[in-house]
Amino acid sequence: MKANELVQITRTNRLSEGEFYSAVNGMFESIWTKLHPPQVLLEELSNTVRGNVITPADTEIPECLSCGACCASLICVGVRPGEDGDRSDQWEIVSDSDEGLVVDVFLKRDHETLACTALDGVVGETVACRIYESRPSMCHHFEAGSDRCHAIRRAYGLEPFMSLAEMSAAVQKLKAVPERISASKIIRNAKIERDAENGKLLISALAKDGTIFPIHSYDPDAETWRQFEFDGLTVEEADELIRTRSKKSE
Ligand code: SF4
Ligand code: SF4
Repeated sequence: MKANELVQITRTNRLSEGEFYSAVNGMFESIWTKLHPPQVLLEELSNTVRGNVITPADTEIPECLSCGACCASLICVGVRPGEDGDRSDQWEIVSDSDEGLVVDVFLKRDHETLACTALDGVVGETVACRIYESRPSMCHHFEAGSDRCHAIRRAYGLEPFMSLAEMSAAVQKLKAVPERISASKIIRNAKIERDAENGKLLISALAKDGTIFPIHSYDPDAETWRQFEFDGLTVEEADELIRTRSKKSE
């Protein structure tokens, strides 16, 4: 992605899904071509220490204040309804087919470093989060010491690369994790669309096996949802999330 395009994008607060994901692709390429390959697919790795599969239990937990690698490289940091923060730091993403419909909110990226706009300092040296106290829950849930944390640190050269034998053992361990939930019950992405007949909004889910099914219909004056909130959830987890928030709005 050209530098001047990103400058323009960081000056705007509203992007269509098409504009946003094209910018994400460009940023992803610019960031990851400068890093070491992650060795193991990041999507397969846990964000929590409790969910670790490949990191030995006695591995030291790294110090975030001298790292910042995840804040610099994980591009889509979603802001849930109620985590409003400073709107000038955020992109509102509107539906490609309905520009009045905000379907997601993400933290902006710095147009020079491509890191999260709230990250101060130099990755791998000294960093700080400018909005630490009010950072999105997505950041809270990303744990230092998790498999994914270590993988990103290796990509930045902040931890030694895995040897071929270690890499092979990691792949075997990931393969050995029993598939607890069928792919038809895990949501890959969700889509929010307006029902032209009654004005309600409908959330549909795309499952990992490619099936599409409706998960919630709601009145936009009573509830607010973002598409990213459903990424990676099981159908049961999505139901529970919807039940809890719908109850609060009653
Ligand atoms: S990659 Fe890990 S250690 Fe580094 S900032 Fe993120 S959570 Fe902290
Ligand atoms: S909000 Fe803070 S913790 Fe979250 S990605 Fe940005 S700099 Fe990192």
